[in-house]
Amino acid sequence: MDKAVFLDRDGVLNYPVFNPNTNEYEAPFNEKDFKLFPDVIESLKELLDMNYRLFLVSNQPDYAKGKTTLENLYSVHKKLHNILTENNISFNEYYYCYHHPYGIIPEYSIICECRKPGNLFLKQAKLKYSLDMSRSWMIGDRDVDIYCGQSVGTKTIMISQKHSDGKSGQSKPEHKAKNLKEAVDIIKINLGDIACHN
Ligand SMILES: [Mg+2]
Ligand SMILES: [Zn+2]
Repeated sequence: MDKAVFLDRDGVLNYPVFNPNTNEYEAPFNEKDFKLFPDVIESLKELLDMNYRLFLVSNQPDYAKGKTTLENLYSVHKKLHNILTENNISFNEYYYCYHHPYGIIPEYSIICECRKPGNLFLKQAKLKYSLDMSRSWMIGDRDVDIYCGQSVGTKTIMISQKHSDGKSGQSKPEHKAKNLKEAVDIIKINLGDIACHN
């Protein structure tokens, strides 16, 4: 059976964008606001070298909420995909949930099972790729990411960032890290690839 790393996007791969109108950090809505954190490319390559399959699992409710267009959300995805492709990094799937239960665009304003902490995407990935969830990981920066991974039996790592404060204090992740690079180091240690005697 294969093993996987499920990655949240905003706040894990790329910088969230501060919106002064809502006083919150949000997803980027256009290509120029999409910027990867340092070391993300190298970290993803290390995961591939360790034979993890990669899956993106991202809630993107802002079209449903009337805050941006689907085209804008797609353009941000396309930029991510292009950067990864240029660097020979392939994800097995990009899973995006565009729904929100209290949105204003009717078709997207539904209660769904794919919005994290809902785990529909992880269950689909498990079946399609015969994944061993006990050897798989979920990495996110909010409680919903941790709940989502734990509900299907992955190990979890919380990326602690100032932007996620307030949405990251309730869950109990197995590990915490400052960024993806540190998270990958934790995965390595747990593989036994690095002897850690500290
Ligand atoms: Mg996030
Ligand atoms: Zn959904």
